Amino acid sequence: MRPASAGSRLNAMTVDVEDYFHVSVFDRAVARSQWESLESRVVSNTERLLDLFDEHAVRGTFFVLGWVAERYPSLVPSIAARGHELASHGYAHRLVYNQTPDVFRDDVRRSKAIIEEQAGRRVNGYRAPSFSVTERSLWALDIVLEEGYRYDASIFPIRHDRYGIPGAPRWPHAMARAGGSLFEVPGSTVRLGGTNLPVAGGGYFRILPYAWTRWGIRRLNQVEGQPAVFYLHPWEIDPEQPRLPASALGRFRHYRNLHLTEGRLRSLMRDFSFGPLQTVLAGCAA
Ligand SMILES: [Zn+2]
Repeated sequence: MRPASAGSRLNAMTVDVEDYFHVSVFDRAVARSQWESLESRVVSNTERLLDLFDEHAVRGTFFVLGWVAERYPSLVPSIAARGHELASHGYAHRLVYNQTPDVFRDDVRRSKAIIEEQAGRRVNGYRAPSFSVTERSLWALDIVLEEGYRYDASIFPIRHDRYGIPGAPRWPHAMARAGGSLFEVPGSTVRLGGTNLPVAGGGYFRILPYAWTRWGIRRLNQVEGQPAVFYLHPWEIDPEQPRLPASALGRFRHYRNLHLTEGRLRSLMRDFSFGPLQTVLAGCAA
C-alpha cells in the first residue's frame, strides 16, 4: 500500500548495481585485475535495498553491471523475481569517453546479453558509468540504439568535472539519431539562477541535507509537472565497506554520510511515489 502522505506523481527509482570498488573515483587506486580478490559486498547490499523497496511497496529499475551479473548469476533473477525492471550499466565500468567505439559496442552488447539471459526478458535501458555520455562521446548513443536498447539514461544536464552536458534537455525526451529514435532520460535537476543543479540521487542525496532533495523533487512534480529520476548504488547504504585510497575530493564524494543513506531513503519513499523507469516513461512518451 502506498502511504497516504506520498505524492501522487510517479517518479523513477533507479539503482546502479556495482560494488564499491567499481566506482570511477577508485580507478587509479584499484587495478581491474584486483577486482576478483577484493571483498565483494554487492549481493548483500542489493538484497538489503530489495528488502527496503519491498517494505515501501516500491518497484524500480536496476542498471546492473555485466561483470557483477556474470560473477553472481543468482542476483539478476532475484531482482527480476521481486518485480523490478532490469537494465544495463555496461560490462566493465569504463568511462565511455575513454573507450573506442568498438570496445564500447562490445561492452554494451555483452552486458545486455548476460542480463537478458539471466532475467529471461528483454533489456531496454542503458546507463553509462558515471554518466559519461558527454559532448565528446555522443557517438555512443548511436551504438546504444544499434545494439537494441530503447532508452539511455547517461546524460546529466549539469557542469561537473567528470561528466555532464550543461545545455542538454532536462526532461525525458525522444532523441532522433541516424538509426532511429532513442529515448533519453536525463538525471534530474532544478534550474536556479540560470544554472541546472542536480537534485535526485547519488552523492547529492548523501552530501546535501535531505531537505534539498525533498524540495527539488516537489518542485519538479508540482511546479514543473515532471517526474524525478532518482538514482543510488548498493554501496551507498553500506557504511561498513572497506576504505580505499582516493583524493580528498574523491573520498568526500564516496564516503560522506553513508550512515545516513538508509534513513533518508526511507523518508524519500514515504514522501514520494516511485516506480520503474519504463512505467514512468510510458507516462511521458509523446
Ligand atoms: Zn556506476
